[in-house]
Amino acid sequence: MLKIERAERLKRLPPYLFKEIDRLKEDVRAKGIDIIDLGVGDPDLPTPVHIIEASKKAVSDPANHRYPSYSGMADLNAVVAKWYKQRFNVDLDAGSEVVTLIGSKEGIAHIPLAFINPGDIALVASPGYPVYHIGTEFAGGKPYFMDLLKENKFLPDLEAISPEVAKMAKMMFINYPNNPTAAVATRGFFESVVAFAAEYNVIICHDAAYSEMAFDGYRPMSFLEAEGAKSVGIEFHSLSKTYNMTGWRIGFAVGCADVISALGQVKNNIDSGVFQAIQIAGIAALEGGQACVEDMRQTYAERRDILVAGLRSMGLSVETPRATFYLWVEVPHGYTSAGFASLLLTEAGIVTTPGNGFGTAGEGFVRMALTVDREEIREAVERMIRLGPFTRKAPMEP
Ligand SMILES: *Cc1c(COP(=O)(O)O)cnc(C)c1O
Repeated sequence: MLKIERAERLKRLPPYLFKEIDRLKEDVRAKGIDIIDLGVGDPDLPTPVHIIEASKKAVSDPANHRYPSYSGMADLNAVVAKWYKQRFNVDLDAGSEVVTLIGSKEGIAHIPLAFINPGDIALVASPGYPVYHIGTEFAGGKPYFMDLLKENKFLPDLEAISPEVAKMAKMMFINYPNNPTAAVATRGFFESVVAFAAEYNVIICHDAAYSEMAFDGYRPMSFLEAEGAKSVGIEFHSLSKTYNMTGWRIGFAVGCADVISALGQVKNNIDSGVFQAIQIAGIAALEGGQACVEDMRQTYAERRDILVAGLRSMGLSVETPRATFYLWVEVPHGYTSAGFASLLLTEAGIVTTPGNGFGTAGEGFVRMALTVDREEIREAVERMIRLGPFTRKAPMEP
């Protein structure tokens, strides 16, 4: 047997967020309790039929069986540019300002390789999607965590970043509507990010995976709508959440041509693009009827309302999210994130994600994903009511 040690970059990784939860889940299942899984942010609804049909036809066409272009089919990139114009009134050059990705996670994980040298800093939100800091570390860089606090509406406080850190920073990752806090950004916030980027020469990477998953008539804006944004950054987008296509692996990045081109250069040395039949499915998604997107919003809004009302009725504190399929729930008095999540799992069979799993600033919260149907959400509420009532933390408690 060889004795093979894994590279430091793997040994340094935090334990996989869902691994401990998976183990507890097995224990609970073994006791005969059926699990209600509000853990993973993966839509439970199927991909709309017209998208599947378009891909079926494309799969049979031999023209699609060859290597695709690593930067994406010209047709898809043009459709993306057209969609940005219609949806956000942002002008994009399809040839130089759009790149197709194997899911947005792929692009987020790879972009630090284009810009980060060993020791360089990337500014990363905490709590946040883990790929931002892990991609940075894989490239040899150092994440500097910007805490997202309730009193700042879960927006990073850019003024709290010292000029020394800001000067060493090369990139910043932000994400609104936000996973896991469900917070949304204002135009003023995006404008202050553009000003910060220009002052300190920092590339902004905005992750807009949830831009279409918003409720009650609210439509999140694109970062690129902020004045000057396209000269300092890019935006990541995904078809995963909007069209229930997490398994298909397709997303894109748009914005500053130099940044897009550098990401393309990394990709062209690592992967060979997205299977064209899937890109054609992506075209069908963006160009086809959008009633499916409205249905998706309705479905999550109904689930959200049931769960928010239920949680409040048992004394828990939670904001009604305007976007994303997450509730960011404050743990009750006397509990840590992990303690409350394990109470819900072991005593009620309900899987949630402890907030500190997304970064130390997530302590004090659990994330609940609205990815089960209304009946299961009602059942989850009933089970939790039997555990409660809970007492809120005192407002000034640390
Ligand atoms: C789900 C999600 C994505 C999408 O990932 P894909 O790779 O496009 O499926 C990106 N960012 C965040 C914050 C997410 O939650």
